[in-house]
Amino acid sequence: MNNTIKFKEGKAMFPVAPQDRQLECPYCGKHPDQIEEYLEASKEENSTPIEYVKLNENTYCQYTGCFVCTTCYVNIGSPTLDKIHSAFPYFRMDVEPLDGQNSEALVKYRLGEL
Ligand SMILES: [Zn+2]
Repeated sequence: MNNTIKFKEGKAMFPVAPQDRQLECPYCGKHPDQIEEYLEASKEENSTPIEYVKLNENTYCQYTGCFVCTTCYVNIGSPTLDKIHSAFPYFRMDVEPLDGQNSEALVKYRLGEL
């Protein structure tokens, strides 16, 4: 697991950890259970697609519950983790909010004031 959102920022914006059902690749809108690569990989490791993404998917962000599946990662031009992770809060703010997220902190993050 990797994270470019700082702990303090992450906790301010998302005080409640994402539910397993809210894990999502923002670019295809799919949950780990719907993505072939994680279904196969988790079967090999005797785990679940959710566990697999949390432990092995480099793009996974613990605060937003977002990750980028390999197909989408290539489609969006293989950006750096930094760019990917800083885009995730925008997705949660504008498209698919998490339970208990702090809108005020999200606005501050967007304005570069957090
Ligand atoms: Zn995807």
